Amino acid sequence: MSGDMDANIVLLGPPGSGKGTQASRLSKTLGLTHISTGDLLREAIGLGTPLGIKAKEYVESGRLVPDELVVELIKEKVGGAGDGVLLDGFPRNLEQARMLEEIVKIDAVINIDIEEGELVRRLTQRRTCKSCKAVYNLDSNPPVMNGKCDRCGGDLIQRSDDTEQVVKERLKVYRESTLPLTEHYQRKKILIDIDGKGTIEEVYQRTMRSLEPLR
Ligand code: AMP
Repeated sequence: MSGDMDANIVLLGPPGSGKGTQASRLSKTLGLTHISTGDLLREAIGLGTPLGIKAKEYVESGRLVPDELVVELIKEKVGGAGDGVLLDGFPRNLEQARMLEEIVKIDAVINIDIEEGELVRRLTQRRTCKSCKAVYNLDSNPPVMNGKCDRCGGDLIQRSDDTEQVVKERLKVYRESTLPLTEHYQRKKILIDIDGKGTIEEVYQRTMRSLEPLR
């Protein structure tokens, strides 16, 4: 199954669920614009923009960046995208979900479900390419050459919020603020639960199958 899809999709899942990796792949196959608030915030922080300066302390301590800052970012990106977006990391709480409803109609919400012990292990083993942002896992998806990206040869780094202490805070924020969104979207009958266990390929295939009725 491939080709463009004309739908707006939200990808939900705890940190470490493979959300970002799946979002990159799904958006390419389905011809959707991938919008990751985490990537956009890290980019703003790296560039030292006014938004980046405000967001830095929140991202580095694993807390949510204030809604109004993130919503502005989303409005700009969704407005500039054509038909069909894949939102990765937004919304993160009920207030953001309500704000999103005023910006765009969401057709489906994919929730990648996975147990917490596995998440801590995955996150602390995660490495990201400094240049092209490709994601590796030292256990399950290691690079061919230690510390170097297979795709572009760039340096692999650990995200500053992937340390054990910050990971615990991010999981707490997820449980308290983001998890209630699954019930919200369940009530709207647009939630699709996906089992996040297994390889990247297995989760990808499960997700693609679950989207078939929408195509
Ligand atoms: P992620 O890459 O999705 O794990 O996001 C990394 C960090 O960016 C989060 O821990 C938050 O600090 C911040 N962030 C990303 N998306 C949002 C959002 N929708 N609302 C608030 N903060 C966010």
